[in-house]
Amino acid sequence: MRRGVVVALASLLALAGVAVPAGAVTFSATNAASGTAGGKRFDREVGTAYARKVLSDASSFCWKVFNQRSSGSRKPVAAVTLAVEDIDGVAFTSANGIHLSAKYVGGYSAGAVKTEVTGVLYHETTHVWQWDGQSQANGGLIEGIADYVRLKAGYAPDHWVKPGQGDRWDQGYDVTARFLEYCDSLKPGFVAQLNAKMKDGYSDDFFAQILGKNVQQLWKNYKVKYA
Ligand SMILES: [Zn+2]
Repeated sequence: MRRGVVVALASLLALAGVAVPAGAVTFSATNAASGTAGGKRFDREVGTAYARKVLSDASSFCWKVFNQRSSGSRKPVAAVTLAVEDIDGVAFTSANGIHLSAKYVGGYSAGAVKTEVTGVLYHETTHVWQWDGQSQANGGLIEGIADYVRLKAGYAPDHWVKPGQGDRWDQGYDVTARFLEYCDSLKPGFVAQLNAKMKDGYSDDFFAQILGKNVQQLWKNYKVKYA
């Protein structure tokens, strides 16, 4: 769209009372598997309207956890999309596109599927917004931060490890999420600082730079606390 047209459109929307903040992000959800059993269950028990709202809520929640108050401090993402597809696995995210498995939705039997999908979407939405150290970051840490956001949002499933469990700090997912919660308790805002440092690269030394102890020592202290 040409600039003059954009300005005219913004003025019209402003006249109509529609807010058009700078850095506005759009959210959309589609079900490309509505002909499958899992896709039908998604439509019945979750729905694209609800899923779209979760993308929006989860994005706001990520910005809060990462302490990114202004759009200029966030990853430059203009849209977050969800597609429910007939794929294997649970879900994956590529750039700003989240893909959820209709088969997983169809086969889920550990509780309310709507709650589970909400938790999965918080995890995947985090992947859209988190920095990855220019692809250099520890993969276990990336997954741990995504589950940390899910945990803080109140969507940790019952089957997750309890605090203090696990073998390595960078085991990923729930193990690393619980460890990050411990690190954040030592210095509130730790995860936000860690994510900010991961914008330009990655080093395990970031833990020491923020908390004054290296990550192996922190993991030992964490294990002792819950022994
Ligand atoms: Zn993930």
